[in-house]
Amino acid sequence: MPELIDRLGEIVGPAGLLRGAELAGRSAGYKRPLEELTAKALVRPASTEEVARVLELCNEAGQSVVTQGGLTGLVDGNLSTAGDIILSLERMRTIEEIDPASATMTVQAGVTLQAVQEAAAEAGFLFPLDLGGRGSATIGGNIATNAGGNRVLRYGMARDMVLGLEVVQADGVVLSSLGKIIKNNAGYDLKQMFIGSEGTLGVVTRIVLRLRPMPASQQTAYLAVGQFDDLPKLLDFCNRRSGGAVTAFEVMWRDFYELVTSAPGANPPLPLDYPFYILMEAMGGDPEADQERFEMMLAAALDDGLLLDAVIAKSQTETNAMWALRDDVESLRTFGPTVGFDVGLPIALMPDYIDEVDKPILARWPDRRRFVFGHLGDGNLHLTYSVGDASAETRKLIDDAVYYPLASRGGSVSAEHGIGLSKRPYLEVSRSEAELALMRRIKAMMDPNGILNPGKVI
Ligand SMILES: Cc1cc2nc3c(=O)[nH]c(=O)nc-3n(C[C@H](O)[C@H](O)[C@H](O)COP(=O)(O)OP(=O)(O)OC[C@H]3O[C@@H](n4cnc5c(N)ncnc54)[C@H](O)[C@@H]3O)c2cc1C
Repeated sequence: MPELIDRLGEIVGPAGLLRGAELAGRSAGYKRPLEELTAKALVRPASTEEVARVLELCNEAGQSVVTQGGLTGLVDGNLSTAGDIILSLERMRTIEEIDPASATMTVQAGVTLQAVQEAAAEAGFLFPLDLGGRGSATIGGNIATNAGGNRVLRYGMARDMVLGLEVVQADGVVLSSLGKIIKNNAGYDLKQMFIGSEGTLGVVTRIVLRLRPMPASQQTAYLAVGQFDDLPKLLDFCNRRSGGAVTAFEVMWRDFYELVTSAPGANPPLPLDYPFYILMEAMGGDPEADQERFEMMLAAALDDGLLLDAVIAKSQTETNAMWALRDDVESLRTFGPTVGFDVGLPIALMPDYIDEVDKPILARWPDRRRFVFGHLGDGNLHLTYSVGDASAETRKLIDDAVYYPLASRGGSVSAEHGIGLSKRPYLEVSRSEAELALMRRIKAMMDPNGILNPGKVI
């Protein structure tokens, strides 16, 4: 096996191979202790051709490969073991082209999401994908996990922002489909197979991203609502009144709002008097008229009784402060170790689902802390529990309580974070036997030696 690693070293050069003590100090994954990183070696190819030669060699040797981007994944899909080779895209960070005529950007997979957003903005475009891990997460990782985030409501998930994809398959064959066109019904749309496959079917190397016009105006507000049933009504009202301008509708249950607004330095935009809070964002093309229309829309919602209170951001600083509250996941750790969830289900079924989940947990841990927030417009809930410990036994009890009630409600055990390793035992809650069987057949066909991220997803 040292021979294989030496041969990999010949492909990527001395700067591209780390092993043994050279791995010390590198992250093992989001919030994981550094010393947890284990692998036979870490290779850092600098081009698609190098990725292809690495995979060809690993495939011939039956060597498992874990692909890593920015290590912000939340389901352990990026986790390696002592027997794995890690393939990192960190040396593939070039923004190759921005094409204003077709509104596209061609990038290598290791570019961070934030760098993509900033390059798009500089060219007068919006790249709408946005999430809290933007500074570290790579665009390749976003696509491999089909990330969602804050603006799915209007712009869709990562999948909806990909026009072309270059992928290296398990045997090293490059599948290059880097077209810039929106309409392309020439047979199967093969790129979709790789989007959201979490490094189990191929390695994403280059992408043609779809850009959107940069909106000229942004309106942001915190809103308060008195009962759950008014949340979907309010969203529908605002969507209709604004002609589809709503880009974010982030709902916070009072416990979450109270937690993040009581953190040191935080400034609560609204008093703590209400059961539900919403961070709403709209974007349009006419700054003055849009702001006025936004205010009138919220005034009408107040008159109709859909809203109980509202505060509108008057500056970019206030807008940033409002988003910082919603993005504050650090405060969730205030009460010790936490167990966090990302599930999907129809909006109308959420209150009853949350009650059912909570019953056994509350019975076992009467002092449990629970925080709920979510991208409600997308049917996506984030639940976080803090019960004093996060041992494997505790984790299993809480996982069971959260995931099994989704089955009867047509819900998903993963709305946006993926399956990785941590949700694998629960995939069958959301997928039928026929779906699972086809997934297994696809995996066996595309990666017959099972070298790509083994043990993850399916
Ligand atoms: C603070 C914070 C907030 C977040 N908010 C959101 C959110 O709102 N919505 C959301 O959807 N996610 C969110 N996430 C999760 C995370 O940002 C995404 O999962 C992200 O898309 C992963 O990108 P990455 O580069 O860090 O990938 P990694 O964590 O390195 O890898 C994730 C998975 O993708 C695979 N992979 C990575 N790169 C490639 C590649 N080039 N080719 C093939 N496979 C690859 C890995 O093998 C692994 O299975 C958040 C994370 C953090 C830390």
